[in-house]
Amino acid sequence: MTQPSATLQSWLDKSHALFIGGHWRPAASGETLDVYNPATAEVISRVPAGDPADIDTAVNAAREAFGTWRKSRPAQREKLLLDLADALEARADDFALLETLDNGKPVTFSRHMDVAMAIDFIRYTAGWATKIEGRSMTPSMPFVPEDKQIVAYTRREPVGVVGAIIPWNFPLLMAVWKVAPALAAGCSIVLKPAEDTPLTALLLAELAEQVGLPAGTLNVVTGLGHTAGAALAGHPGINKVAFTGSTPVGKLIGHAAMENMTRTTLELGGKSPVMVLADADVGAAAAGAAQAIFFNQGQVCTAGSRIYVHESIHDAFVAKLADQARGLTLAPGWEPTTTLGPLVSAKQQRRVLEYIDLARSDGGTIVTGGGKGSDSGYFVEPTVITGLAQGSRCVQEEIFGPVVVVQTFRELDELVTLANDSPYGLAASIWSNDLAAVNRLVPEIEAGSVWVNGHNLLDACMPFGGFKQSGIGRELSDSLIEHYTEQKSVVMII
Ligand code: NAD
Repeated sequence: MTQPSATLQSWLDKSHALFIGGHWRPAASGETLDVYNPATAEVISRVPAGDPADIDTAVNAAREAFGTWRKSRPAQREKLLLDLADALEARADDFALLETLDNGKPVTFSRHMDVAMAIDFIRYTAGWATKIEGRSMTPSMPFVPEDKQIVAYTRREPVGVVGAIIPWNFPLLMAVWKVAPALAAGCSIVLKPAEDTPLTALLLAELAEQVGLPAGTLNVVTGLGHTAGAALAGHPGINKVAFTGSTPVGKLIGHAAMENMTRTTLELGGKSPVMVLADADVGAAAAGAAQAIFFNQGQVCTAGSRIYVHESIHDAFVAKLADQARGLTLAPGWEPTTTLGPLVSAKQQRRVLEYIDLARSDGGTIVTGGGKGSDSGYFVEPTVITGLAQGSRCVQEEIFGPVVVVQTFRELDELVTLANDSPYGLAASIWSNDLAAVNRLVPEIEAGSVWVNGHNLLDACMPFGGFKQSGIGRELSDSLIEHYTEQKSVVMII
C-alpha cells in the first residue's frame, strides 16, 4: 500500500462536489480549493470552495431531512450506522492512504489508528441509537387534587440539525466523532471539514449514500473556515454546533452560536503535561513520553508537549527521550517504515519552526532536532528542548508539532502547580507506580483526562473533553446522548 490504486487515483483526479440533500453539486460560486500532499507540496486534488450560499442550501436540506429522520426507528438508525462501519472497513486501505496523502501521517497509523478507531467508534455509537432513555419521576405537587394521578417522566429528543466543524489532524476520525452520534440520536448534520484535509469526509459521504442513508441526513460542504465555517456556526437553522479545533476559533464559534442560543460542544486546544515521578522506569517513561509528543507529528490536541521529570532522573530521562526521537524515521507517510511524516501544511511547518527559534532565543537547549530534516515537503525533525523557564511561550502555548519541552520538579506540590499553570486543561499523564503519589495527583490535576503509565489512552467508552480553555462538553461515551439530545419533562394529570 505505497501508491494509490488506479481507482483511488481516478477518485483524486475527478471533479469533486459538495454533498447536499443527497445530490453532488459544485459550489454555488464555482470556485475550488487546491488540496496538497504535505510530503511533496504538490496539488493532489481539488474540492469545491463552499461559501455561505452552499451552507444555507445544506442547512435547509438537513432541516427537511430532520423532519423524517427524527421519527425513524432507532433500530433502523443503528443498522445504517453498522452498515456504514462495514462499508468503511471494506475500503479501509483506501481511506488510510487517502488520509496519508492528504494529511501526511504515516500510513501504518492512518490504517491502524485513524481508520480502525473510526470503524470502532461508529459501531460503538450505533448501539446507542436503541438505548436512549428517559426517567420516570414521582412529583408531590400539592396543588393537584388527591383523587388525580400524576404521571411524570422525561424523554430525550434529537437536538435537531447539527453543524459540525472539524480540524485537519484526524480528518476522518473527527468527522465520525460528530456524524455517528448525530445520526444515532436522530439528528441530521452538515459537516464542514478542514480546508487542508477535506478528502476523507467526501469519501465518507459516498459511503453514506452507498449504504442508503436518507438524503439530507448527512451533508458535506467543503470550504474555508472564515466563510463556510463561520456561516455554519452562525446559521439560525442549526440547533447545535459541534466544533473541534483551536481555542481562538472555538471562542469565535461560541459567540456566533450564542446569538441564536445554538447548543455547542467545543473540543479545543491543549498543552498537556507528562509527569515523570522519581520512581518511574526511566526507559519506559521516555518511550511513552516520546509517543505522547511525536505521535501524529505532535499535531494532537492531547500531545504531551510539556514534560515535568523528577530532578533525580532528569539527565537519564532526557538522554533516553533524545534516543527515542533520533530513532524515528522521518519520511513520506506512504512508505511503510515511516514513523514521523510531514506536518500538514507549509503554514504549520513555519509556525513550528518559529517556536523552535523562540526556544533558542529564550535560552533553551535544543537537545536533538530543531530543523526541517528534509528540503522537500513540510517536515520538522522531532525536537527535544531543555532549560526553558515556565513562563516561556514554548511552555505556555500550543505548538502543535513534534516539539517537547522538558523541565524538572522536586516536590509533588510544585509539580501540581507547574502542571496546572496553563490556560488549557485537556489531558495529562503520570508515569509512576507509587500509588500514594498517583492518587494524590489525580484529583489535583486540572484536565479532562488523566492517564497513568500511558498517554492518549482514548476509547469510545470514556468521556473526552477539556477543563478550562480546552473546551466545553464531552464527546464519546454516554456523553454523546447528553449532547445530541434535548431533555423534555412531561407531566400529566389523569
Ligand atoms: P482551527 O481552529 O484553525 O480550524 C478548525 C476548523 O475550524 C476548520 O474546519 C476551519 O476551517 C474552521 N474555522 C476556522 N476559522 C473559522 C471561523 N472563523 N469560523 C468557523 N470555522 C472556522 O484548528 P486546526 O488548525 O484545524 O486544528 C488544530 C487545533 O485543533 C489545535 O488547537 C488542536 O488542539 C485542536 N484540536 C482539538 C481536539 C479536541 O478534541 N480537543 C482534537 C483535535 C484538534
